[in-house]
Amino acid sequence: MNRRDLLSASGLMLAGMAVPALAGRRAMAAGAEDQQLLKSLQVCTPADSLTYLLDGNRKFSKAWVAASGTGTPRQRMDKLNAIWDNNCQIDPAALAEGQKPVAAILSCADARVDPSWVFACGSGELFQVRSAGNTAFNDAIASMEYAVSVLGTPLVVVMGHSACGAVKAAIASNPLTPLLEDLVKPIRASFKPGQDLVEAIKGNVRSAAAGLVANSDVLRTAAANGKVTIRGAYFDIGSGAVTML
Ligand SMILES: [Zn+2]
Repeated sequence: MNRRDLLSASGLMLAGMAVPALAGRRAMAAGAEDQQLLKSLQVCTPADSLTYLLDGNRKFSKAWVAASGTGTPRQRMDKLNAIWDNNCQIDPAALAEGQKPVAAILSCADARVDPSWVFACGSGELFQVRSAGNTAFNDAIASMEYAVSVLGTPLVVVMGHSACGAVKAAIASNPLTPLLEDLVKPIRASFKPGQDLVEAIKGNVRSAAAGLVANSDVLRTAAANGKVTIRGAYFDIGSGAVTML
């Protein structure tokens, strides 16, 4: 049974026992059962976590494509809401007691690239660090060290995306503010002449993922010991699909 099945089954089981009329995506009790759910999230392996994210993305991508280009806002929302079917949500009262994220995501601040949405995850499931261009600056590295060493998160994903404005700005010659120049500096450094935009975005992802390992003893040791897997990914906004690099 994978993690999403486990969550769904537990949610249904709890709902069935306690409040049959509300069976579905929510775990109903903020008691021992939810604490057990939170615990179960901690013991998954890097491979379990990756499977969980990719399963979630398949659901999202299907709903995203179905909602594209047709219908009213309400009809589109109905299609998009399909990603939450059979997706157990942990009780907020249990989340107030702690977090056990299934994965940590370093992604762009772009409004179209919300990792929880893209991977069909609920509250408490993803540890997120976001800034324009998904660069592994020191604060991002420190945040990932916390996710891995304190929270026991088994998977770190650096996720770039199609049409990334930060990468476009880095490879264009338009003048930027001093702070934006600092922001795009690592992206420029990863750019190789002749690359198109998609190649530049993927190159930037690989560079950020390598930066996490190169600049953190904690992450390097955890990766070497198999405690964490660090992967790059590319999110295509048009299709809603995430490709692992
Ligand atoms: Zn971006």
